[in-house]
Amino acid sequence: MKSICWFRNDLRVLDNPALHHCCKNSDEVIAVYFINRAQWQEHDDALIKINFWLRNLELLQNKLKKLNIPLVVLEADNYSETASVLKDFCTKNEVKNLYFNNEYPINELKRDRNIYSSFKESGIGVFTYHDQVIHEPGSLKTTTGNNFSVYSPFKRKWFSELLEDQLVILDEPEKQESMCVEQTDLSKFLDEFTHSKSELWPAGEEFIQNYIDEFLKFKGTTYKVKRNFPAIDATAKLSPYINTGIVSSKWCLIKAREYNNGQLDDGNKGIVHWVSEILWREFYRHIIYNFPKVSKSLPFVDYTKNIPWNVNEEWLERWKAGKTGIPIVDAGIREMLETGWMHNRLRMIVAMFLSKNLLINWQEGEKFFMRHLIDGDIASNNGGWQWSASTGTDAAPYFRIMNPETQSIKFDPQGKYIKRWVPELADCSETEVHMPKSPENYNYPKPIVDLKESRKNAIDVFSASKS
Ligand SMILES: Cc1cc2nc3c(=O)[nH]c(=O)nc-3n(C[C@H](O)[C@H](O)[C@H](O)COP(=O)(O)OP(=O)(O)OC[C@H]3O[C@@H](n4cnc5c(N)ncnc54)[C@H](O)[C@@H]3O)c2cc1C
Repeated sequence: MKSICWFRNDLRVLDNPALHHCCKNSDEVIAVYFINRAQWQEHDDALIKINFWLRNLELLQNKLKKLNIPLVVLEADNYSETASVLKDFCTKNEVKNLYFNNEYPINELKRDRNIYSSFKESGIGVFTYHDQVIHEPGSLKTTTGNNFSVYSPFKRKWFSELLEDQLVILDEPEKQESMCVEQTDLSKFLDEFTHSKSELWPAGEEFIQNYIDEFLKFKGTTYKVKRNFPAIDATAKLSPYINTGIVSSKWCLIKAREYNNGQLDDGNKGIVHWVSEILWREFYRHIIYNFPKVSKSLPFVDYTKNIPWNVNEEWLERWKAGKTGIPIVDAGIREMLETGWMHNRLRMIVAMFLSKNLLINWQEGEKFFMRHLIDGDIASNNGGWQWSASTGTDAAPYFRIMNPETQSIKFDPQGKYIKRWVPELADCSETEVHMPKSPENYNYPKPIVDLKESRKNAIDVFSASKS
């Protein structure tokens, strides 16, 4: 019996449920991956991220080849065309079954439901697996049977429902007898989606597995204390890998437990805190599944639909260019433009600055992040933006607005991070770098807005919209 394992955000061989079961139950296996150009554009997927997917796909193809599993690339502009392209391929190659791991954003769910019903009609078996987070989205409920919208009780429930067999790694599949079709040459896709900063983000399962080990061994214990200081390389920089499924959430948690005497929610404070950050990712994946409105461009908190956001192209463009005149904000944006990644503390600072001080719709920022982040992920990005804009689940209250200057003094006291990304300010003193008195002396712009006035204005606007 011939089967397809369809790879999506799960570009790994180890501990991949769809691949594991597909190989176990089939005589011949074909791996499939889709290029969805128009859909990727509609989703604002960044070029650096697509390049990262394809570089990892290339390594995956090599690993699969050693197992005699050919990886074939199919093309469909949109998700709506995927079912027919896949069905034609199945018919041509006499494929009897399709295996894949579930994805939870709304467009992916629609695509998969469509495939599920149309394949069933054609007599092709469809087998789906749960893989991206530990507890299947929709499976954790409050005592009143509702879905969680607050992180802390979600986290308590997550731990109380955790079973040992949810943290067991599946074996790598056995070698197939022979390759049943020819694999696709990926070089033309790699050329099409090339990116100049790709060397910053090495690809491959082995790379990230070793990297997690190193992180937990050398930085795990100090993570809680150092994670908020962007000049220190203290976080795992795991997000591109976990979001693309090059490593599973399960693997990260098993490793965290290994380095913490078998514990996840007690013991080493640094590692316990890291685990709780991974659970924020899980939380937002549950949110996106349980409350589909958040992926339909709607805020979670209804009254915030009425916020009269400023429409100011000049301000928005300056924010996007890292030229707001607020050094810490500009440093964060420039880090992302240069590397495809931004430190979490900075994501909060720049997002609050846009949605509160500039009072520009957070969706502009959400989209801009997606277009530039290598880890751009609809669930975590939407969650982070709605948290910062006070429109989301368990969000920052609208009146608690971070002052970027104060944040800068607290988390980048010597201005090292600022000076790295805003070199115009390299000669500023430690005190001046957070908000230069005469920016023109450094060929640096004046602040777009006064921080105190704009903060007060945002609070007034939110308060009026709420009442
Ligand atoms: C406005 C905004 C937008 C964001 N957009 C994204 C995004 O598009 N993709 C994305 O993966 N994360 C996003 N985040 C969350 C967070 O900033 C990144 O996950 C984190 O910076 C990744 O770096 P790391 O791997 O070194 O994290 P670590 O500190 O080492 O944490 C380990 C892992 O935990 C998860 N995690 C940590 N913090 C968060 C969080 N606040 N929310 C959800 N998961 C978290 C990530 O998977 C991360 O890789 C956003 C946060 C904000 C405030």
